[in-house]
Amino acid sequence: MRIAFSSLYRVDMAGHVFATEKFLGTAERLARLKVISSADLWEPPESSRKDLLSVHTPRWVDNAVAGRLSPFEMARLEIPQSPEIVSAHLRAVSGTLEACRQAMRTGLGLHIGGGSHHAFPDHGEGFCMFNDLAVAARKMLDGKRLRSVMIVDLDVHQGNGTAFIFLGDPRVFTFSMHQQDLYPEKKETSTLDIGLKAGTRDERYLAILKENLPPLLESRHPDLVIYQAGADVYEKDRLGGLKLSIQGVQERDKIVYESCRNFKIPVAVTLGGGYAAELRDTVEIHCNTLRLAIRCLARPRP
Ligand SMILES: [Zn+2]
Repeated sequence: MRIAFSSLYRVDMAGHVFATEKFLGTAERLARLKVISSADLWEPPESSRKDLLSVHTPRWVDNAVAGRLSPFEMARLEIPQSPEIVSAHLRAVSGTLEACRQAMRTGLGLHIGGGSHHAFPDHGEGFCMFNDLAVAARKMLDGKRLRSVMIVDLDVHQGNGTAFIFLGDPRVFTFSMHQQDLYPEKKETSTLDIGLKAGTRDERYLAILKENLPPLLESRHPDLVIYQAGADVYEKDRLGGLKLSIQGVQERDKIVYESCRNFKIPVAVTLGGGYAAELRDTVEIHCNTLRLAIRCLARPRP
């Protein structure tokens, strides 16, 4: 296995609700559980400017990288500015791209990070500086080997940046199932949006997902699924208002993986949001997501 992860994803954000310790916590827990070994981890380099420009404007890329953001841009991004934070976000773009390449080679690609679905071409918002999902999708399509990509976004928040970027691009199907009355206040138009009521619990959530996702994968049959597996659908998340149990989130992931396996569609997994009151809950959910992906989709080692 070759799993994208950088210990540099952990950056100092002084008590921010986005606890970047979760990435290292997830990698360490997976190693402790012997799901992965340190030899499986692959350190993503900072994304190139050229790759970023496949989605983002030169102005945004250059100002974000140089730390030249206006107070308004900073407020919209909602994370502090530092060279370390920029580096972590640049690396996450390469991490998701590598997970996609790995998925095309082996059927499954994993990234212990990524999922910055609120980043738009000309600005970042909601903790997302660069849209790794969008850059990866576009790079994979530009390589000409793929005809279509589906981005399955099950974070509690709508994947507004991703939806905006691919609006009118028939090669990318954006599917977002999220809490409706939550940030982002202004929703963009995904190819398919399902907005759920606050308080939605396991049974209803899973029934809606089962009703929609497998038929969609069967009829569209994309060459690649990029999965944004946000852990913030969890009932104890501090930012989300859905009420999924840890078991419920696992069932969610299982629906995604089993559908992709049934229709023989490669999957690249990214982690997305996760802001539980207890960091260990977020880590457990992210670990479950990756462990289950390996169980369902990884080819046995020779
Ligand atoms: Zn989120």
